[in-house]
Amino acid sequence: MPYEEQLEYKMRLEHKLLSQFGKIEPIIGMYYPYHYRNKVQAAFGYDKRAGKIISGVYQSGSHKIVSVDSCNIEDKKADEIIVTIRKLCKDFKFIPRHVLVKRGFSTNQIMVVIVTGTPILPAKNNFIKALLSAHPEITTIIHNINPYETNLVLGDRENVLYGKGYIEDELLGCTFRISAKSFYQINPSQTEKLYKTAIEYAGFTGNESALDAYCGTGTIGIIAARNGAKNVIGVELEKSAVRDAISNAKRNKIDNIYFYNADATNFINEMAKSGEHLDVVLMDPPRAGSTEEFLDAVATLAPERVVYISCNPETLARDLLYFTSTTSYKVEKIQPVDMFPHTAHVETVVLLSK
Ligand code: SAH
Repeated sequence: MPYEEQLEYKMRLEHKLLSQFGKIEPIIGMYYPYHYRNKVQAAFGYDKRAGKIISGVYQSGSHKIVSVDSCNIEDKKADEIIVTIRKLCKDFKFIPRHVLVKRGFSTNQIMVVIVTGTPILPAKNNFIKALLSAHPEITTIIHNINPYETNLVLGDRENVLYGKGYIEDELLGCTFRISAKSFYQINPSQTEKLYKTAIEYAGFTGNESALDAYCGTGTIGIIAARNGAKNVIGVELEKSAVRDAISNAKRNKIDNIYFYNADATNFINEMAKSGEHLDVVLMDPPRAGSTEEFLDAVATLAPERVVYISCNPETLARDLLYFTSTTSYKVEKIQPVDMFPHTAHVETVVLLSK
């Protein structure tokens, strides 16, 4: 489907689900909607019939690997590195389970994660040497051990084989640390547009207390703390993401932000019970959306504005319907952003006010 048509398709979807709440701004598309994925992950295996090692993606609903050399939405350099590793595997006589490559587009730092089922990586030092001589641009290499055959690519144990064990990237003038496991938006140029919209909707004037719920590595909260929020609290379920968030705040010399490792619903309930004050709630839940309990607690805390960032318009519509029908909050603005060109996904920022 031509890109313009994709944007129209996404707008139709947004209209169908969200026009009941108000006017929808035209979707923010991408100027060059290719090679935007800064994170590429490939499954490795042995194709018995062809007698060779293959790497790529799983065919949907199966564990059969479809070989991929390059993909129009993935970072070119990441694809090249994966093809190199596939060739090296033949010489080194081992097959990883997965290989994950992340690149900081604005810093050009590159992380390679080799995932194996056992702690042993044959001829480790020579393998690293060969990989680095083919791709001297790699800044860190990590060995991750995942003994389980699950849908999760990464296991809990990792050894840094080369470099710092993380990479960094910049968004809106702030620097962020990205580790192997932590969540980081995969389309950085569109992420800047998304975050800019969210910060604009938050309407900070220098006096606001804000909550960044489902904060991941703290990106939105840190940008808010630097751009007009008086103080920010971030809450996130994933322990390693919270660790990254804390170091991200330090790295950017932000001292008006605090992070908590908790379930967002439990956390905001506690805030509501102890009568805390909030002016702005920023929320960016995963695809499953938020909970009625979370939204009830938002109503109790009664912030002036709520900025809901959503990667799934269906759960967004469900949550907005609940929130607007049980409270006096109204939807003021709806801004779709195309974070994932050439896929069916669409991201939306919504401003609600009391
Ligand atoms: N705002 C961040 C992350 C958004 S992704 C960014 O823009 O990068 C959604 C995040 O919600 C993930 O980091 C996930 O770990 C977290 N999450 C999922 N369920 C949660 C819950 N119940 N409570 C708190 N955080 C949760």
